[in-house]
Amino acid sequence: MSGTTTEAGRRNWAGNVTFGAARIARPGTVDELRRTVAEGAAVRVLGTGHSFNRIADTDGTLVSLAELPPRFEVDRARSTVTVAAGMRHAQVAALLQAEGLALANLASLPHISVAGAVATGTHGSGVGNPGLASSVAGLELVGPDGDMVALDRDSAGFAGSVVHLGALGVVSAVTLDVEPAYQVAQYVLTGLPLASLATGDADEMAALLGAAYSVSVFTDWFGAEAQIWLKHRTDAGGTPRLDWFGAAPADRPLHPVPGVPATHCTEQLGVPGPWHERLPHFRPDFTPSAGEELQSEFLLPRAAAQAAFAALRELGHRIAPVLQISEIRTVAADELWLSPAYGRDSVALHFTWHQDAEAVAPVLAAVEAALTPLGARPHWGKLFTATPGQAADLYEHAYGFRELMDRQDPGGKFRNAFTRSLYAGGAA
Ligand SMILES: Cc1cc2nc3c(=O)[nH]c(=O)nc-3n(C[C@H](O)[C@H](O)[C@H](O)COP(=O)(O)OP(=O)(O)OC[C@H]3O[C@@H](n4cnc5c(N)ncnc54)[C@H](O)[C@@H]3O)c2cc1C
Repeated sequence: MSGTTTEAGRRNWAGNVTFGAARIARPGTVDELRRTVAEGAAVRVLGTGHSFNRIADTDGTLVSLAELPPRFEVDRARSTVTVAAGMRHAQVAALLQAEGLALANLASLPHISVAGAVATGTHGSGVGNPGLASSVAGLELVGPDGDMVALDRDSAGFAGSVVHLGALGVVSAVTLDVEPAYQVAQYVLTGLPLASLATGDADEMAALLGAAYSVSVFTDWFGAEAQIWLKHRTDAGGTPRLDWFGAAPADRPLHPVPGVPATHCTEQLGVPGPWHERLPHFRPDFTPSAGEELQSEFLLPRAAAQAAFAALRELGHRIAPVLQISEIRTVAADELWLSPAYGRDSVALHFTWHQDAEAVAPVLAAVEAALTPLGARPHWGKLFTATPGQAADLYEHAYGFRELMDRQDPGGKFRNAFTRSLYAGGAA
């Protein structure tokens, strides 16, 4: 059912952002979407609302694509699938698995929309795995006049258009690279001494972060020990090494946050299973409608990893009281202009905070002050204290992206305070 509302969808998933939109539109067809965009003075899209800042906000029309018909078109010759932009990874992954196909990677939670994930440079983990936007082979966009624009990897400006912060139009469909389905076995190790993160042998630490297809380390930067999650592709053969810095395999399933039951976590203990039931940390049949948490994340050059670990350990006494858990991941370099891993193999330092914005703010500022000199770029969809314009200035192609915004959207219909800041912060 299509329609508009002024009541529903007013807040993001975490509930810390109330959208200022005059109108929320829920078009039921692409033609209706095109009319909505053409008629709106200011337009932004709300994906599944999993961002923690005002990136999706507008005082004009907020468009939800949740009521557009699903689309799922496999092209076996090109090894791609084209999906409706508002579909969630969990939905797409189950359909792909039924076709014997897979995506290269997923985020920790599979309930996020495909287009929203791509727009902010969302990533999983793995030294050889770039962010999810790198799998994008094409985009269909509705431009400011309701016109349709199709882009693929051969299109001019493609590298600038994939991680787009919602500023270039309304993405109605996304074409993604696919590969044959694969199996993953997940191992959780406990007892990694926290001190070893900063001071352990650098080669050994690099080897740990690359010990499986996808590796995460969970810590609060204060307690004595950290947890390691290894997601091993079974087609790589063998079993991953499990004795890093004295850590050992857990004898039961664990949640990343100590003391929380593992009920909602994907299967562990090395039991192989389909890629989409192991790569996310949380199960697709567990659908949290709201989150009692806030998140921040910073991506740094991988060579700065241990200096960053040392800086965070110094701040551990301030971080731990306002933190649920912190996660260390790796992301391979890509060439997408505003991707936080643009041009450099990265280590990603994530913080799941308690939902207490006032208490978190000074700690986040201290974390950011410690990590920025090491080359940290904030995740576009999470909380950070720099302005979006200051964050954009950390990218070689910031100016090129501003030109792209002007070209695709000369009247500024898709701009909001977040993306207007990209101009304010940047040298023209
Ligand atoms: C519990 C949880 C776990 C998370 N895990 C990870 C993780 O593992 N890795 C990671 O990197 N991030 C993670 N994130 C962050 C999340 O992936 C990003 O915030 C992502 O952008 C959310 O997607 P969304 O569909 O909810 O987008 P929204 O938050 O709704 O929107 C984000 C931006 O995308 C734009 N947008 C959305 N859809 C479209 C469209 N169709 N056309 C044009 N613009 C569009 C919006 O306008 C907005 O600017 C997590 C967030 C949560 C809440």
